[in-house]
Parts: sequence; C-alpha cells; structure tokens
Amino acid sequence: MPHSSDNGTIFALSSGRPPAAIAVVRVSGPRAADAITALGGTIPEPRRAGLRRLRDGDTLIDEALVLWFPGPKTETGEDMVELHLHGGRAVIAAVLAALGKLPGFRPAEAGEFTRRAFANGRLDLTAVEGLADLVFAETEAQRAQAMRQLTGALGGRADAWRTRLIEALALIEARIDFSDQDVPDDLVSPALHVARQLSEEIGETLADEHRGERLREGLVIAIAGPPNAGKSSLLNRLARREAAIVSPYAGTTRDVIEVHLDLGGYPVTLLDTAGVRESDDPVEQEGVRRARARAGAADLVLWVVEGGAPSSKQVQRTAPTTSLTTEVKNEWIIQNKIDLSAERAQPENRTGNFAISALTGEGIEQLVSDLAAFARTALQVAEPALVTRERHRIALQQTQAALLRALAVASSGGEELIAEELRLAARELGRLTGRVDVEDVLDVIFRDFCIGK
Ligand code: GDP
Repeated sequence: MPHSSDNGTIFALSSGRPPAAIAVVRVSGPRAADAITALGGTIPEPRRAGLRRLRDGDTLIDEALVLWFPGPKTETGEDMVELHLHGGRAVIAAVLAALGKLPGFRPAEAGEFTRRAFANGRLDLTAVEGLADLVFAETEAQRAQAMRQLTGALGGRADAWRTRLIEALALIEARIDFSDQDVPDDLVSPALHVARQLSEEIGETLADEHRGERLREGLVIAIAGPPNAGKSSLLNRLARREAAIVSPYAGTTRDVIEVHLDLGGYPVTLLDTAGVRESDDPVEQEGVRRARARAGAADLVLWVVEGGAPSSKQVQRTAPTTSLTTEVKNEWIIQNKIDLSAERAQPENRTGNFAISALTGEGIEQLVSDLAAFARTALQVAEPALVTRERHRIALQQTQAALLRALAVASSGGEELIAEELRLAARELGRLTGRVDVEDVLDVIFRDFCIGK
C-alpha cells in the first residue's frame, strides 16, 4: 500500500456545525506533532488528554484538550493530533488559521482522512463505505447495517473467498507449470470443487431481494391521488410537521415533496406527489410527470381518495390504479375525510383499505402501525444482508460469472482457460475490497464524504 504522507500534513474541523459546546479539529500527517508544539507547547503522553493553552504567536486563542496519536496504529495510519476546542466559530477560525501558517500544513479535502486510512491499509473499501453509511444512518436498522460493514461483514467474507480462490488457482497453475514433472495428476478437480462451492456461496449472498440496498436507501412510499383528496394533509399527519403546503385550492402541490420517517427503526421516504390530473399548465404537467415517475418506482403507493364511507365497489371506481401510467408494486386505498360523512358508517380497516381523516387524525394510528409492519416485512432479514450497494452486487455477479465460465470451460479441458477465469474472479473480489485496481471507483466513493472525515 502506498504511503500518502508525502501529500503533507492535513487539518480540518471534524465535528459538526458550530457553534457547539466542543469542536474537534483533527490533524494527520508526518508533521502532526507540530500542531501541538507550535500552538500549545508540550506533547502529552500518547493517547492521553492534556490540557493546553493554544496560542498563535502572543495571542492566547483557547484552552483546549490536546491528544497525540503516534502512527501507524491510528485511524489514518499516520501521526495524528486532536484538538478539542471550545466550539465557537471564532475559536475554530483562529485555530485553523494558526495551523495553516505551519510549514507543511494544509486544509484537508473532503474525505481525505478516510482516504489516507484506506491508502495505508487501515480500512478496506467496504469498511470505508460502512463508515460513510454510519455517518448518514438515520434509523437503528441502518446504523446496525453500517456498523456491520464497517467491522468487515462483507470485506471479511470477500477476503476469505479470495484466499480460497487463490489457493484453487495455485493448484491449477502448478498443474500447468509442472505438467511434465512429478506433480499429482488431478489438481484440477479439487480446484473446480472450490470454484463450484464459491459460486454457490456467492449465489446465496446475492439472493437477498436487495434488502441491504433497500435498507441503506430507505423504502419509498408515495402518496398519490386526485387533487384535493388530502394527500398533503396526510403527509403532514404522518410526518407530524408542516413539510408540505396544505391549501384548499386544487393543484398547488406542483413538485414532489420528500419526508424521511423512522418507522420502528426502519427508514421510509414519504413522497407527496402533485395532484395527478390532466392540465394545460406546463408547470403542472411537469409536476404530474414527475409524480407519476416517482410513484411508479415506489415500494408502496398510498392512493388517497375523498370518500365519506363508500362501498368497496365505489372505492374501486374512484381509485383507478391506471391513473398512474406505470404499474405499481403495492397500492393501498386511503379513504380520507371520513369526518365529513354524516352517517359515519365506516368501512372496515383492513390491510390495503383504510378510512381516515387527515384533519382530525382518526384512523391514522392504524395506518402508521400497518406502514411500520410493511417496512419491517420488506426490510427485516434473519441473516443480515452483506450486499448494501450496487457496487457490491456488480462485483459479486462478475465474480460468479467468471467462476461459472471456469466450470464451463473445464469440460473441454483447457487448464489455461480455467486459470484465466479464476484469475478474473479473484480480481473482481479484490476490486470489491479495494485490494486491486480501484482508482476508478475511489472518487465515486469518497465523493459522499464531508470535509473532516
Ligand atoms: P391534496 O391536493 O390532495 O394534497 O389535498 P390537501 O391536503 O391540500 O387538502 C385539500 C383540502 O382538503 C384542504 O382544504 C384540507 O384542509 C382538506 N382536508 C384534507 N384532509 C381532510 C380531512 O380529513 N377532512 C376534512 N374535512 N378536510 C380535509
């Protein structure tokens, strides 16, 4: 692994937006220790906090806790320093300015600390992705999944597969290299046995109904239906805040409004689609187009209709799924405004058919609990999913494809051809963890990181 310390000593604010009680400035690189000696005097014992007065020349900036982490057993693999400051804007600005004056120091780029950790072999790529997911996790199930990736759930598995594959490859290469010498004849069939096993294990890992990716991204539930049915009011009820504009005039919700919900630990993105109706207004037409596209891709559509207490026949007539051009996966019919119906003869609430009042809140509790059950069913797994990104899926599919090709060519002999396919399979697993040939994916992965990570 290349050492990146020749790129200088980097520093950044690693904690959140000031002002706050405390701000953490991190420093990493060969001259990290200068951050303490130049600003605060003596270096404390490794990994022990020391209270220091930080100065820029004669000016006293702050009294801070200072930590010294000598490399290589640090997060980045380099010498590191943490300054725990009082979290005011001017304090942070003064410290960053003082660090910027030190020779060899420069502000870190987004994700640069983690990039150095990867370059120095402290984290593999799947762990880097897990770290990004951990920072962005909004619900408990997302946090748990991110933590599994960070601690090597997929990376460890991929490494173990790759080791077995390389052992199998060595058998075939021995057979090729020493075919005229005294090596056992049958080295190929044990190697193919390993290839078959690996292909099966990878196949099982891929047969996860995309649960890992869906948990990472959240389920998408679209609220759709005719104008004025109460879609925005329902969204506000569910989100318990004023995220969508509620207006008594039809056609005001022109864009798609998005709200993130935590339903019992599972992430749900709720979309309020523009009133789906034909219109001459180009702006409104665009809203309708977007509404249909996103609702069509949603995991569940809540189709809201105005209904006092219609019979199920009426519901079918007033809730045509065909008004969404795309076929939707799941659709529940929500009869809204039941507070307006005089006789209050409510239809039974059963899955997929609800009678509510977004205005009074009636029926909302049942809807929320059924939504939570829907999310749990869609995302919960007995075995935690290992594949959490499209990148993982593609790498494993490519690995499996190469393994299957190795098995296919085996019937026609060709040890070189088998070896070549096994090499390709090993390379794909290496790309998954970032051991080989990953320059092209690095920028995509680190793009998600913020400065100070
Ligand atoms: P959208 O066009 O489907 O998003 O509908 P809105 O949420 O903007 O609601 C349209 C109108 O119906 C507004 O005046 C709301 O206050 C009203 N409304 C929404 N839900 C209910 C309800 O459950 N009962 C009653 N009486 N009025 C409602």
